[in-house]
Amino acid sequence: MPPPRTNPLLAVDALHISFGGVGAVRGIDFEVYAGEVFALVGESGAGKSLTARALLGMAPRTAAVSGRVLLHGAPVTPADLGRRIARIPQDALSALSPVHRVEDQLALSVRSVQGLGRREARAAARRALADTGLAPEAAAAYPHALSGGMRQRAVIALALVNGPDLVVADEPTTALDPDRRERVLTLLRERCAAAGAALLLVTHDLEAVRRHADRAAVLYAGRIAELGPVERVLGRPAAPYTRALLAALPTAGLPHRSRLPVLAGAPPVPGATGEGCAFAPRCPDATALCHREDPGPRTVDGRRVACHHPLREAV
Ligand code: SF4
Repeated sequence: MPPPRTNPLLAVDALHISFGGVGAVRGIDFEVYAGEVFALVGESGAGKSLTARALLGMAPRTAAVSGRVLLHGAPVTPADLGRRIARIPQDALSALSPVHRVEDQLALSVRSVQGLGRREARAAARRALADTGLAPEAAAAYPHALSGGMRQRAVIALALVNGPDLVVADEPTTALDPDRRERVLTLLRERCAAAGAALLLVTHDLEAVRRHADRAAVLYAGRIAELGPVERVLGRPAAPYTRALLAALPTAGLPHRSRLPVLAGAPPVPGATGEGCAFAPRCPDATALCHREDPGPRTVDGRRVACHHPLREAV
């Protein structure tokens, strides 16, 4: 059941990210509420990972970032990272220090963030690792000695050990096969729920969104094409782009790597989006209006959609 909507935990307001004056993220607004799983989804280059990095204060040095990112109504500060916002990167191995045993890494993090003593920090580390199902022998090992799935468990424990309000996971299962990917995402969602943390999941995988997210924002060319409850956005998409992504999903039985959506045409080069809708050159529903005017967001059938002709196929 979706969590109750009160004040947002995270509010992203008019986020713009540009490189040399060329916009890669072009005015993104969304909110994440306590306890929910919110997905940012789209093709490669849509701006979802860049958005996630900006939330964490990790946008590239060459990026110009404007807009507001509020956590509990106040701007996110570097002190929030690791304490109130935790990150799970694409590459689990890179998140773990190769020169420390897994358990020691978590204990160090607990000591530095929570200021606990050595014994209490180690106990907290062991609890967090055990909660992810990692055996004590694996917890006492160095990261290179662990399997990919074990490392993912360790990274989830590391993200949650200091009780964050929000976990930002950027394509956390890209390197895993479908079975492991599903197990890791289930574990991540369940551990976040048990810890009371919201999860912001950045992914290209619509099936993962369908199974694990409460709400989703579909990004195209640095803008949100559609945002709403997953059962509406993926069950009865209003935006032609969402429909196109769903139609591009491979049928069951195809290999894992073919899960990346493949649409006809290519996304626009940043800075070359023109006056009209950025999706117009690829959109089967495009009209003259679409090529002339950029559609602003509107509320349609319980979700926000940026399209002049939403729900065309569904009505
Ligand atoms: S505004 Fe027009 S071109 Fe853009 S998605 Fe909607 S129908 Fe397609």
